[in-house]
Amino acid sequence: MVRIGVLAVQGDVREHVQALSSLGAQVCGVRRSRELDDVDALVIPGGESTTMDKLVRAFDLQEPLRKRIADGMPVYGSCAGMIMLADRIADARPDQETLGGLDITVRRNAFGRQVDSFEEDLHIPAIAELTTAPDGHPETFKAVFIRAPWVEELGEGVEVLATVEAGPATGRVVAIRAGNLLATSFHPEVTGDHRIHEYFTQMVRAALH
Ligand code: GLN
Repeated sequence: MVRIGVLAVQGDVREHVQALSSLGAQVCGVRRSRELDDVDALVIPGGESTTMDKLVRAFDLQEPLRKRIADGMPVYGSCAGMIMLADRIADARPDQETLGGLDITVRRNAFGRQVDSFEEDLHIPAIAELTTAPDGHPETFKAVFIRAPWVEELGEGVEVLATVEAGPATGRVVAIRAGNLLATSFHPEVTGDHRIHEYFTQMVRAALH
């Protein structure tokens, strides 16, 4: 059984724990570096990246997390988690740091501060065929965006999994993968469609073999 931690300093931890548990993973919250030692992979949830960054540093987790990421631990970051995994941030707070690992620039609150949250059905070919698709619309994935970032620049080797398909943000990149790192601008843990989590658990299993 794969052991997946959910970074539990701030954000919507519980929803990710439930989604991963329903897929048969052994899941626990990670607040200390010795808890990080016990997991094969990590989810960084949505929340507020400036707060998460401060707490990660206050809990002496920044260096251990950077080391595990550099050593190839699979990590999935959602929304603020995507920001934490980015090498560069546009519209960062002046003192804001990230863990890094993904050769991308993300823009915080990219959809505009007035657009607090919205939903959009996305086509995500990489997850379309997975088994946890809900009845009804397996060809699309209901993506929930909450003060979300988008990916503005992508380095070599970063694969685009999904882009916005309608409205003024059409073409903006909102889901990516590079090696063992996965990131989405949106929150798949709130919808009951667990295909992003299923895709991640498959990445974790593949990395362990
Ligand atoms: N806007 C938040 C940030 O900059 C992210 C929002 C979210 O995770 N839902 O961290």
